[in-house]
Amino acid sequence: MLRIVQVYPELLGTYGDGGNGLVLRERARHRGIEVELVRASMDADLPDGDLFLLGGGEDGPQRLAVSLLAKAGFSRRVDDGAMVFAVCAGLQMLGTSFSVQGDDRYEGLGLVDAVTTRARTRAVGDLATTVDGVLMVGFENHGGETRIGPGVTPFATVVRGRGNDGLVDGFRVGRVWATYAHGPVLALNPWLADAVLSEALGGWDLAPLETVADRLYDSRCRALRTRSAD
Ligand code: GLN
Repeated sequence: MLRIVQVYPELLGTYGDGGNGLVLRERARHRGIEVELVRASMDADLPDGDLFLLGGGEDGPQRLAVSLLAKAGFSRRVDDGAMVFAVCAGLQMLGTSFSVQGDDRYEGLGLVDAVTTRARTRAVGDLATTVDGVLMVGFENHGGETRIGPGVTPFATVVRGRGNDGLVDGFRVGRVWATYAHGPVLALNPWLADAVLSEALGGWDLAPLETVADRLYDSRCRALRTRSAD
């Protein structure tokens, strides 16, 4: 049984990233894998989980979420082997510090060597990236830009949009994965949902699926190839 925890949907649910949990649960079910999807409320103790999902959020709720997670000993769960898949505000919170409102600087969870400062302009729009040559699409909406430390592996290379800094998007440090892409990104990129699922299960091989989402992803890739050949 795989236990997936959607962290504080009341705070980190503004951008539809809760859909990532639903996608993972359904893709697991299609393969006969038992999954429990738990919504971790900000008013209750943080439940145990094999995989924690952090979504995007507005600046204020993001600050509250990071202090609640610090109090709940979130970093210890990760040190003990839990996987994390984070989007946008979730990404910023995993770093050492972030500053999204004015010049105030807030301490992050410090799980990854990454610093977010306020960008001159807000990044709003399509985000297209590649992960080892594979297309990952989504949309972004954030006021911060993120600099990752020299030893940190980016999650993706930016083709269009900002991601962290216009060059790379997100990071991947052990079992802590993060991107700026909303969408929800796991619905838009089924291969990524399977990569997260496989990692969370300890490296299982998952048979391909033929869902509507898989077909839409394939046609999106074909359309992009056709356009780039024009
Ligand atoms: N509040 C953060 C920012 O604007 C993150 C926004 C988000 O999660 N979409 O940078």
